[in-house]
Amino acid sequence: MNLERAVVIPGDGIGPEVTCAVQRILEKAGAAIEWVPHDAGLTALAAGDEVLPGDTVAAIEHHGVALKGPCTTPVGKGFSSVNVQLRKRLNLYAAVRPVRSLPGVKTRFENVDLVIIRENTEGLYSGVENEVTPGVVMSMKVASENACTRIARWAFRYATHRQRKKITVLHKANIMKLTDGLFIRCAQQIHKKEYPNIEYNELIIDAGCMRLVQDPSAFDMLLLENLYGDVVSDLCAGLIGGLGVVPGANIGDTHAVFEAVHGSAPDIAGKNVANPLALLMSAVMMLNYMADHRANPGAKAVADRLRVAYDSALEAGCKTRDLGGELGTDAFADAVIERLQ
Ligand code: ATP
Repeated sequence: MNLERAVVIPGDGIGPEVTCAVQRILEKAGAAIEWVPHDAGLTALAAGDEVLPGDTVAAIEHHGVALKGPCTTPVGKGFSSVNVQLRKRLNLYAAVRPVRSLPGVKTRFENVDLVIIRENTEGLYSGVENEVTPGVVMSMKVASENACTRIARWAFRYATHRQRKKITVLHKANIMKLTDGLFIRCAQQIHKKEYPNIEYNELIIDAGCMRLVQDPSAFDMLLLENLYGDVVSDLCAGLIGGLGVVPGANIGDTHAVFEAVHGSAPDIAGKNVANPLALLMSAVMMLNYMADHRANPGAKAVADRLRVAYDSALEAGCKTRDLGGELGTDAFADAVIERLQ
């Protein structure tokens, strides 16, 4: 592959250990990437910087792609989520999360193969909250026609390129008639006017969640607004083995940040037990993005080699503890490296 520069943000909690493992695997796989390290999250604060330093954002704007470890978000107080801030500042409006059954990972279902598309910039994650009067607080859900249309078009275009057959919108437009109503109306219009050949349907999200845990094979692609996309991503992770195996990409018109769906998992940080696979799969998505968007076909060859290697490691029973195995982060990385062809 041609040499690429990519920003790397190790992040907090398990972030540095999984990032280090993934960089090691990529190097052995022959990924020609010059990493440009930058901080965000608690690490940036500890270094006396802002939680999302301006030079980190500027570096992603300059280089166009980043591989990012998770950043801790304080619960119920403190600074607002770095992950959410970054997506908004860079206008990374589409979150893509493929959820696929993995060889050697036994779960209740076989053959799960879903792609979740989450709107990344609006909804209840707009962060517009205020105290109306002591004891009464309010959070504003924002939906704009532009953003709803943009994500719907993105999802249908993705479906076309990836030979996906059906998009299901999960919503609550029976209750949130204006906001979710707008979301489904925009999706309906894009379907009707631009992509009538892709199958399209809608489900109220509570019923959709029940259906997902009963029979995930009934779904192909899911399109959701921000909060629903966040929650349903973890639900779907549970269908295929948990948070250690679901990658993600946050994509805008000019930049993309690749990060696992999981958070910083402080409960297992620093113990060399975290599963690096979700971030490794995110790196594979990054290589495929480089191949498609930067005319770098060699990057796809490296991505394919990595995928074969981690699938074969799993098939051989090489697993971290979250998947019922015994390997630590580094040992799993070694098992993947041994299988690189
Ligand atoms: P944050 O506050 O950053 O969201 P969190 O711990 O609340 O962190 P997650 O990081 O998503 O949320 O983790 C939820 C649970 O899943 C934790 O118990 C964690 O141990 C487990 N987990 C998450 N990621 C991994 C991983 N890569 N490998 C193994 N276990 C993981």
